[in-house]
Amino acid sequence: MTNNIYFIANWKMYGSTTSLNSLNKLINLSRLKKYKRARIIYFPPFTLIKDFVTKFKKTKISVGAQNCHQTENYGSFTGSISAKMLKDLGCNYVILGHSENRMSGETDFDINQKILSAINKNLKIIFCIGETIKEKRKKLTHHVLKKQINNGLKGVKNFKNIFIAYEPVWSIGTGIIPSKKDLENNVSKIKKLLTKKTKLKLQILYGGSVNSKNLSNLRNISGINGFLVGSASQNTKNFIDIIKKTII
Ligand code: PEP
Repeated sequence: MTNNIYFIANWKMYGSTTSLNSLNKLINLSRLKKYKRARIIYFPPFTLIKDFVTKFKKTKISVGAQNCHQTENYGSFTGSISAKMLKDLGCNYVILGHSENRMSGETDFDINQKILSAINKNLKIIFCIGETIKEKRKKLTHHVLKKQINNGLKGVKNFKNIFIAYEPVWSIGTGIIPSKKDLENNVSKIKKLLTKKTKLKLQILYGGSVNSKNLSNLRNISGINGFLVGSASQNTKNFIDIIKKTII
């Protein structure tokens, strides 16, 4: 991997105000010259965003949210958070299209509306795509990825704030990662689709059971600009190990 390398920490629905104490070691690491290519972005639950923004204030570590509502400003949507509210909190990023949200009913159309609203509020977007095990077995992976990209990015004119996270659903939280051949093949397919659509070189991240033990296999995958890490990022020592084993 050359140039900037992205390390996304998705804390899902974990963490409390005391969890922030463990982050000092990570802040120290992010200041070392050796790791200046590391672009570290934390996605805590909504309840901790403000604390994270404050914690990382004088660092180059960024903060994002794990989702947002389709409506970009305000509205009568109980329990929801808009892109405008995230920006107001100090977020620079948002994850959209995560399979855990797709599985609870979020559609390609919803994701597209969220992407458009996040773009309008100048948030950077980690747009998650990936096939289920059923789709993989039916050899539908490329068809699914194409559909998710085309539907999710419908009407988008400015692609500069969009990152793609390729996350095979069957790999998330299972400890199983794709073979090098499959991963490179799918990433190359995604790249071709995106270049055709956007005329730009978007950053592509891999997500799915990334940990410090399987990194030796993943760090050599061509076409990948970083990792979206779920479970392993919730323990700061493990997350630091992932960064150290990527940038060696
Ligand atoms: C994720 O949350 O997107 C993810 C990849 O989780 P995990 O690393 O736990 O598989």
